[in-house]
Amino acid sequence: MIDLPPLREVIARHGLSASKALGQNFLLDSQLLDRIARAPGPLEGERVYEVGPGPGGLTRALLKAGAHVTAVERDRRCLPALAELDAASGGRLRVIEGDALAIDEAAEAGPGAHIVANLPYNVGTALLVRWLGGEAWPPWWKSLTLMFQQEVAERIVARPGDSAYGRLSILAQWRSAARLAMKVHRSAFVPPPKVMSAVVHIVPKEAPAGVSAATLEALTGAAFGQRRKMLRQSLKALPGALDALAATVIDPARRAETLSVDDFVAVARAMGTRPGA
Ligand code: SAM
Repeated sequence: MIDLPPLREVIARHGLSASKALGQNFLLDSQLLDRIARAPGPLEGERVYEVGPGPGGLTRALLKAGAHVTAVERDRRCLPALAELDAASGGRLRVIEGDALAIDEAAEAGPGAHIVANLPYNVGTALLVRWLGGEAWPPWWKSLTLMFQQEVAERIVARPGDSAYGRLSILAQWRSAARLAMKVHRSAFVPPPKVMSAVVHIVPKEAPAGVSAATLEALTGAAFGQRRKMLRQSLKALPGALDALAATVIDPARRAETLSVDDFVAVARAMGTRPGA
């Protein structure tokens, strides 16, 4: 990588004042950005799909680490700054102007890419659910390194008994390993958001046999929809769930938040893939 001007200068030169509507909170600290880019592991020669590069702070760190980056950005004002990065990296950056929620990302990024993103909260959660959901497993991506509001990050990595434990924890952990890679203080962003943030790192693992994602999703939806109730009550309306629970050794007087991820998997497996489940 040839020497690049400071990010503040790039932002000023291209008039990239942060847009609230696009959830823009930029990271400018190169040491912090390098740390985030290290979360997926060594990137030399690896492919990365970055969502929302903005003025390109994180993109720089990824390119510096030796990655080939495909990036999708909705704000066309950022494209000239990103074109400069492409030139400086010897053509290792490809930018797509568009909405990350609408593009065929697997085709654009190619199988085996690491996904890295610092996204607005609502877009990040919607994409996370898309990347972790669905029946096809292993997924097309190799790892996820994603910035979230700290409260959401804690829900993703929570364990049974934690107050943050719920549907998102099970979605992220039943066939992936999820960890909190680092907390990021709100003052690191320009402009600073109201709350603290954290980076989560997720790697897919082998899916348990005989369990459908749709069934597990319906089960956790019912169980955590009434998280303070006993399972015998909260699972009543879900066809086949109480019979499946009875087929396991799990006490129906327990509440959802006390069941491990494996417990949920066991009940979902006993439910099979019944219609309505
Ligand atoms: N990655 C940069 C950084 O860390 O400084 C920018 C982060 S900023 C929180 C989020 C970026 O995502 C913005 O550049 C915004 O324009 C972009 N963005 C928001 N919604 C998007 C969408 N649906 N698809 C693609 N990019 C989006």
